[in-house]
Amino acid sequence: MSLSVLGNLTCGFAGGYLVASLIESAMHQHVSDAPKKTVKRWERFPRLFRYLIRTRYSHHIVHHRRTFKQDHITQFRSMSEQEALDQELADRGRHGRIIQRSSYAVRLHGSGALVFVAPLLPAVPLTAFTLGVWGTLGCCAALALPPLFSHFIHPFLHMPHSKAMREAPRLTAWLLRRWYFRSMARNHYMHHRYLASNFNLVLGGDVLRRRYRSPTESDLGEMQRLGLRID
Ligand SMILES: [Zn+2]
Ligand SMILES: [Zn+2]
Repeated sequence: MSLSVLGNLTCGFAGGYLVASLIESAMHQHVSDAPKKTVKRWERFPRLFRYLIRTRYSHHIVHHRRTFKQDHITQFRSMSEQEALDQELADRGRHGRIIQRSSYAVRLHGSGALVFVAPLLPAVPLTAFTLGVWGTLGCCAALALPPLFSHFIHPFLHMPHSKAMREAPRLTAWLLRRWYFRSMARNHYMHHRYLASNFNLVLGGDVLRRRYRSPTESDLGEMQRLGLRID
């Protein structure tokens, strides 16, 4: 591989990573966890904002409010809690079934994927124009990270580390032991504890957007109690 190919690949990946991380952080804050008054504005034009309303419902209401109420690693406190949510989702028809199939919004699903991926797409022609084919390949690899992490990594961030090691496929388990993914797990724990910060799975954007909150001794103590790694 020539130096210019490697250079373009690296530049494309670095640019794509920056865009992916910033947009993930911003979309998570302003769409997935949008405040109620924003949702009220969307609801005036329900057809236009349908996908945003659905994404916010599945993430903010189902993932943050209706599940993991006891703690970060316990999805339901009882069968009756799960049944009550199933009932609510059944009333929402097809979207409710999609949410159930995604293990209650733990994995990326349906319109959620669209909302995550669509804002990233303008970066592709821009890279093709400036860095050519290899740069575009590097950029696309980085842009694929937010949906990939949401789908394949996020479920294991809601498990004690030892359980994640047992249940994750071998490659995922290897990744989860690395520094980057251990930091991701801590960041995600912090997001569930303090909803207004730590939006990233693709790390970096929160820091640049001043939305990063570092864990205190008490946060770390709680993580340790739940069996999450804090090193
Ligand atoms: Zn969230
Ligand atoms: Zn989560």
